[in-house]
Amino acid sequence: MRDTLQHIDNAAHSSGRPAPRLLAVGKTRPADAVAALAAAFCDLRPGEVPAFGENYVQETAAKQAGLAVMRDVPTIEWHLIGHLQSNKAREAATLFDWVQTVDRPKLVTALARHRPDNRPPLNLLIQVNIDDEASKHGCRPDEVPALARAIAAHANLRLRGLMAIPAPAEDESVRRRAFAAMRECFETLRADHPHIDTLSMGMSDDYPLAIAEGASMVRIGTALFGARG
Ligand SMILES: *Cc1c(COP(=O)(O)O)cnc(C)c1O
Repeated sequence: MRDTLQHIDNAAHSSGRPAPRLLAVGKTRPADAVAALAAAFCDLRPGEVPAFGENYVQETAAKQAGLAVMRDVPTIEWHLIGHLQSNKAREAATLFDWVQTVDRPKLVTALARHRPDNRPPLNLLIQVNIDDEASKHGCRPDEVPALARAIAAHANLRLRGLMAIPAPAEDESVRRRAFAAMRECFETLRADHPHIDTLSMGMSDDYPLAIAEGASMVRIGTALFGARG
């Protein structure tokens, strides 16, 4: 945890950008590994809330249940970063503080309907398919404004920004272009929604590049936990 936070700070410093927030990606990792990393984060960054990303609703429910019976686990902010089917929207709206993978109007409606009344607004990122025509997930950049308006119409949802998973590319300049295109998309959206503050992009193998192009949140699994089995 210490090394990863340091690398993030270094990447931000060397590109003259503010340091982005770390989202620790815990998919496939057991609850005790998540608890240990959350505790390490709180030691290193007192006063900040550790944020963890998960890809699957079922796995998250099981992991949260596991954490609930452990001692001294810090409060964790939970982010859904995997594709969400509409029939899982109820569970997702209950388990998560953020959903980063909103890519169609139907999902906005379902999340608003199912967000429990006793919880603060659900934070949402619109997932943009920035460079991969073949990918099934994420909306096209030209669909972002309508989705943002749909989210803004619900008092129990809060639009926070954009998320992307650019297609893997050997060529660094290709990746950099995708991140830069996301930054542009984000600035365009912010002209109409000035409160948005989150551009989620960059993973273990490319986060310094994403930071150089203006990521405000990086999603890191392997570099924190080791290789997935
Ligand atoms: C798994 C995953 C990550 C983290 O990937 P690493 O390469 O392990 O850092 C980030 N974002 C999403 C959407 C993921 O599914």
